[in-house]
Amino acid sequence: MNIGGLNTLACTKAISDVSGSVSIYPLPHMKVVKDLVPDMNNFYAQYASIQPYLQTKTPTPEKEHLQSPQDRKKIDGLYECILCGCCSAGCPSYWWNPERYLGPAALLQAYRWLADSRDENTGERLDNLEDPFRLYRCHTIMNCANTCPKGLNPAEAIGEIKQMMVKRGV
Ligand code: SF4
Ligand code: SF4
Repeated sequence: MNIGGLNTLACTKAISDVSGSVSIYPLPHMKVVKDLVPDMNNFYAQYASIQPYLQTKTPTPEKEHLQSPQDRKKIDGLYECILCGCCSAGCPSYWWNPERYLGPAALLQAYRWLADSRDENTGERLDNLEDPFRLYRCHTIMNCANTCPKGLNPAEAIGEIKQMMVKRGV
């Protein structure tokens, strides 16, 4: 919810962190179901649309899909997202186009699977994002990184996706 002007987690924001009277609102620019409860249906549908699970083409190994420690490190700062929605609800581009722009949370998760060395569907994942609205509405305003209660940086992840798009085009 929005506490003292910042989107954050009510379960971790201490009352002592907010001075004076405390204003509390539902996450901004989202439909309100009731009281402080926002309607997250569109947000979750967008998350589902990036297919947030491992996809492979080579035969399934007998045991687990192996990953080197170095490759495992590449998803640090991505897998920790708890889908709280604070970033998307704080993103001006998402406010204006919530139906068409995926928003920082879904895009951070999209990059989480693009960056995973075990996933083999990179081309299809990029095809799914190649769209003037779904990806390219991000204008690097950075509200997402400033508000994330987990200290993640969706803007950086979005920048990485854009770079992957450029690289595959040359
Ligand atoms: S990136 Fe941060 S703010 Fe956005 S949904 Fe994930 S945990 Fe929440
Ligand atoms: S950097 Fe991109 S995703 Fe983050 S708040 Fe700005 S426009 Fe939204």
